Amino acid sequence: MSQQARIDVISGAYGRANRKIEFPKNASGKHESMSDIFGTNVFSIKKMAKSLPKPVFENFRQQLKGGHTLDKVTADAIAHAAKVWALEHNATHFTHWFQPLNDTTAEKHDSFLSLKTTFDNGLAEISALETFSGSELCQSEPDASSFPSGGMRTTFEARGYTVWDTKSPMFIQDGPHGTRVLYVPSVFISYNGEALDEKTVLLRSSSVISKAALDILNLIEPASEDHPRAQNIYTTLGTEQEYFLVDRGLYALRPDLKTTGRTLIGSLPARHQQLEDHYFGKIPTRVLAAMSEVELELAKLGVPIKTRHNEVAPCQFEAAPIFEEAMLAVDHNLITMDVMHRVAHKYKLKCLFHEKPFKGVNGSGKHCNWSLSTDRGENLLSPSSTPETNYRFLLFLVAVLKGVMDHGDLLRTTAASSSNDHRLGAQEAPPAIISVFLGSELTEVLDAIEENRAVDRAVAGTTTTQMRVQGTTLDLKVATLPKLNRDMTDRNRTSPFAFTGNKFEFRAVGSKQSPAFPVTVLNSAVASALLEIKEDLLKQMGDKAVASEEDILAVIRKYITLTKKVRFEGDNYAEEWVKEAEKRGLPNIVKSPEAFKRILAPNNAEMLTRLGVFTQAELESRFHIMNEKYAKEIIIEAQTLWGLLVQHVLPAAFSYRRELSESAAALKQIGAEAAPEMKWLAQLSPLCSDLEDISEELDQLLNEQAPIEDPEKAAEHACYKISPAIEKARELCDKVERLVADKYWPLPKYHEMFSTL
Ligand code: ADP
Ligand code: MG
Repeated sequence: MSQQARIDVISGAYGRANRKIEFPKNASGKHESMSDIFGTNVFSIKKMAKSLPKPVFENFRQQLKGGHTLDKVTADAIAHAAKVWALEHNATHFTHWFQPLNDTTAEKHDSFLSLKTTFDNGLAEISALETFSGSELCQSEPDASSFPSGGMRTTFEARGYTVWDTKSPMFIQDGPHGTRVLYVPSVFISYNGEALDEKTVLLRSSSVISKAALDILNLIEPASEDHPRAQNIYTTLGTEQEYFLVDRGLYALRPDLKTTGRTLIGSLPARHQQLEDHYFGKIPTRVLAAMSEVELELAKLGVPIKTRHNEVAPCQFEAAPIFEEAMLAVDHNLITMDVMHRVAHKYKLKCLFHEKPFKGVNGSGKHCNWSLSTDRGENLLSPSSTPETNYRFLLFLVAVLKGVMDHGDLLRTTAASSSNDHRLGAQEAPPAIISVFLGSELTEVLDAIEENRAVDRAVAGTTTTQMRVQGTTLDLKVATLPKLNRDMTDRNRTSPFAFTGNKFEFRAVGSKQSPAFPVTVLNSAVASALLEIKEDLLKQMGDKAVASEEDILAVIRKYITLTKKVRFEGDNYAEEWVKEAEKRGLPNIVKSPEAFKRILAPNNAEMLTRLGVFTQAELESRFHIMNEKYAKEIIIEAQTLWGLLVQHVLPAAFSYRRELSESAAALKQIGAEAAPEMKWLAQLSPLCSDLEDISEELDQLLNEQAPIEDPEKAAEHACYKISPAIEKARELCDKVERLVADKYWPLPKYHEMFSTL
């Protein structure tokens, strides 16, 4: 690698032409509309219904509703229909597609091709055909020992199964050169049924919260003819995905980006995000073209991307979908990241999902917008204009407050990783203290209910003329309470968990991770609170079948008081908040190894096992995996940085030092002034010594690293010993970068990566 390579890539990047996107065309040669394209690569329930005999489809529908398990005849029929559809779409292979505990998805392709041997007069005749059986659709057996299992699977007992998740539709992904594969979304479990993946526990948590929420609904809402009981309640999720894009040529010259996903060194340029001109700015042409192609590909896969924009940091962008049922939304977020990654490649771009690829500018999150919905399409966290539904709203609202208060530390755990540690608490992302923001109006309503008084109208805003974006009105019916406008403009960007009008937004989640674990824990924590609330409601109701308004209000009031400490409306970045949170007894978990421990904390483990979302063994395995991954990632960073230091930074510094000393000597020889060179040398030389020292320190720390068989110790060593050394080394490298003549610098610089899109 040389400085010339850097220059070549930069000049090349400026001249890069855009690809032409191929929109599917209809019969009259016009572009198909996005709505026509939407879902064309998905074997939807509708398509299934069309292609299956009625009784078979009915059987499947019953299975989906939890009626019974899939029988062989039904499975074979579905597999056949799926194969016919897949072959029509030129697919050659199928794969179970699952989500092991390593933040990626896994797949192994099998061809539809089979051979059939027939005998004709004793002569074997072999013919080829395409087959796909019910058992191939339903189950597959990958080698579980090669995936993280936290000790639950060892190589000598490696059996693990992927099982079709019937709730998530099959789809076809386009590969290179026209290859097409049928994807079968699956869960991944061990021989004994333990979860080896993200999906199994998510499914468990969904049914737990669904049942708990239905129970409450049945207690507070009498069913009537025009308002039949909801049969199902599910959580909804919309994931705002942030990411960075850099030119692939420049990326190729950064070993740190390639190996660790972030720049381990790099000095901040004069201009980065200070002018606040990137957020919502004009999207660069190459990026817009890539985004459009991503959206087109995702539309085919039934992933509804709604918004796209420039984010705060240079080269940073965001895409957000229309929300969906959480389980599907998780699949779709993982598909989105995969498609972004692949399409970016075609535009000679590299998509960075790391939470903090560049030091000194904002990092990336994945805001998880979460709510509860009935199968009648009602959002249970939406304030509305009828009093009955507002009691319901408040009841579910306090359940969320209770869940987050009791298990905020566990929610923090779900966003803990070595990469997200760089973001949480860095004055740009929510801090490591989990509190809930409700907005001044809702706060005033809760305060008024608690204090049994009228709502302060000035705060609740019925008499003010502020802009009301989605002016739904909340009438609490209680005689003393006025109507409340839902103010979508009232926001607090510093809160890790904010109510945003009709949903909660969990903002601590990192951009790189799967949203599955955070949603699993959120579902569970709220389900647990709902169960508690149900008990209180039943007590309040006595022998009534349906709760009265007074009953509901009494319970709401109790929980408002109970959950006060988790509510915070102020600036989450302020130093006072840290002190205040400590007084309130809210945990402030700054580093990941501390957060990991919370998964085994008695109250959290008790809740997760009581609800049947995790077994104790699964929790211990998670704990093991999180620590192990954390330690390994930091070790890889330290090793990569050591290489950069010794092979790139020091040689550049040495070369420049030699040039300076040679020219100083030459100048002195002819009796000329050499003071500037000498001054520069005097700055550079001690830095070289410091760099040399820190490279030795890194080396030593890597040698002292606890064995990975003890992941908890390894993670602590990585966190408290190796990480600070990485930071120290980085500071020195960045000083050297600023001093050394550009012609000696081999690595693309921040300003170059920021300005070549
Ligand atoms: P904001 O601008 O407040 O972040 P948006 O309306 O743009 O809110 O929504 C952000 C994300 O929240 C989108 O992905 C959107 O689909 C999602 N969202 C909206 N309503 C819900 C809901 N009821 N449940 C889950 N997600 C939702
Ligand atoms: Mg948002």
